[in-house]
Amino acid sequence: MQAKKMTHTKHDLHHRRKPRVGISSCLLGHYVRYDGKDKRNDFIVSRLSEYVEFIAICPEVGIGLGVPRAPIHLIDDPDTPEKPGAVFIHDPCIDVTQSLATYAKQIAQNYPDLSGFIFKSRSPSCGLYNTPVFSSTTTQHIKNSSGIFASEITRLLPRLPTENEENLLETNNIENFIHDVTRYHSKIPFI
Ligand code: SF4
Repeated sequence: MQAKKMTHTKHDLHHRRKPRVGISSCLLGHYVRYDGKDKRNDFIVSRLSEYVEFIAICPEVGIGLGVPRAPIHLIDDPDTPEKPGAVFIHDPCIDVTQSLATYAKQIAQNYPDLSGFIFKSRSPSCGLYNTPVFSSTTTQHIKNSSGIFASEITRLLPRLPTENEENLLETNNIENFIHDVTRYHSKIPFI
């Protein structure tokens, strides 16, 4: 008997591939933090690796800051209170806000097939909703916001499933995230 010939469309092949999920590089164990260390999260990496292909992204390295490097933080901008800025702690005159936002645009363009993003909590670049913002005049912690890179990614891709790593560790959130990523992946046009 003649074997049945299998044919796969480009569409089939796309949807048999694992969804691609961006992740802050330090969570994968890359030594990219300002202090030269990592922040590997074994639970997230081992739980999700079965379902997704990780795309490691460190926006601070991406804009050309070295490892190790002086740390940055978010400061309140009185002219645009809804949009904090990212500056070096030791020299607030060095502002990297625009560089981080531009890098986010490049990532959104370079990876049109991303189906999710996991951000490192409380980072001035990668934090999602829980990064401290300091007063530019008194240096007091006045509120929390998203880091510049994460804020721009979520603005550019408002439907993309996103989470910060601390939320993913809470009950059922990782299962919900896998569900959202799989559904998003099934709907994006094949590349
Ligand atoms: S939190 Fe983001 S910017 Fe900071 S080291 Fe990790 S990946 Fe890089």
